[in-house]
Amino acid sequence: MTQTLLLTDALFLRHDPGEEHPESPARLAHILALLEKEPISGTERKVARPATEEELATVHTPRLRAYLKGLRGRHEAVDPDTTTSPDSYDAAVLAAGASVQAVDEVLAGRSRNAFVLARPPGHHAEPDKAMGFCLFNNVAIAAEAARRQGAERVLILDWDVHHGNGTQAAFWTRRDVLYQSVHQYPYYPQTGAPFEVGEGPGAGYTVNCGLPGGSTDADYGAIYRDLFLPVAEAFRPDLVLVSAGFDAYHEDPLADMKLTERGFGAMCTAMRDLAERTCGGRLVLLLEGGYALEGLSRSVHTCVEVLAGKRKDSFPEGVSREAAAALQRSREALKQYWPVLGR
Ligand SMILES: [Zn+2]
Repeated sequence: MTQTLLLTDALFLRHDPGEEHPESPARLAHILALLEKEPISGTERKVARPATEEELATVHTPRLRAYLKGLRGRHEAVDPDTTTSPDSYDAAVLAAGASVQAVDEVLAGRSRNAFVLARPPGHHAEPDKAMGFCLFNNVAIAAEAARRQGAERVLILDWDVHHGNGTQAAFWTRRDVLYQSVHQYPYYPQTGAPFEVGEGPGAGYTVNCGLPGGSTDADYGAIYRDLFLPVAEAFRPDLVLVSAGFDAYHEDPLADMKLTERGFGAMCTAMRDLAERTCGGRLVLLLEGGYALEGLSRSVHTCVEVLAGKRKDSFPEGVSREAAAALQRSREALKQYWPVLGR
């Protein structure tokens, strides 16, 4: 069994939203260059295969799929933030396919865990709407693939600095897919309030913690310890998926958080340990945002080392008053669904 599968493809470098757009091909190029320069044993690289229409249809409406297909071969603005180049559609279909492929490999036991190094990212894409640099929702499509393959409960943890409105929308009324997000709040895309907990049978299965800008590794540590991990353990996932954005990095130009490489290493270690305790280590990370090229590539490298079992990181102690208050609001909103939070 391979320890850590890295799924990527040269086509991901050909999605070009335009000069000066932060979601540039240079992001992935930097990540791949560092992995090349400082290789990590226990990892294996595979090229990706495209998603099928059927796989895309598990999350996205016929209207959106037809609209996006119509962008193939064209420069187009989906919204002011989201633009395409001629190869963008094919790259997006391949990014979704790579995400399904990673789930296949991990559920089949051919690989212990995986990191999908793809772009465009996906977590802002709603079932019927592409937005926020995202065309298809890769992590949602991956979760649906896992469900169809017999995983009864799938956890999606989203540590991108922006709230994953698209993923939340896809599973809002569902209890088989638990969505947890920590993000800067209030901030783009303005969703992710603590009282957004899901509806109907999905009530309690959306867990949001919005933190003020300036939050640190230690603040994130408190959210994992006192909110995400207790709920995740009670949920008992069969597979853990991570929307791994790196834009909470302290130098990121698009947000105001203060995370370091150690913080990302600690979040990844927490998820690896959770997966080991609950589901035989089955864990898939998917690249979302992250726009400080040096910090992005270093932090991804750190996470791959964690996945490959080469390092472990822990969160520093201590939590700010503001982060503790945000944590308390989320715990209050969710404790009726998760007795473990009432203790
Ligand atoms: Zn982001």
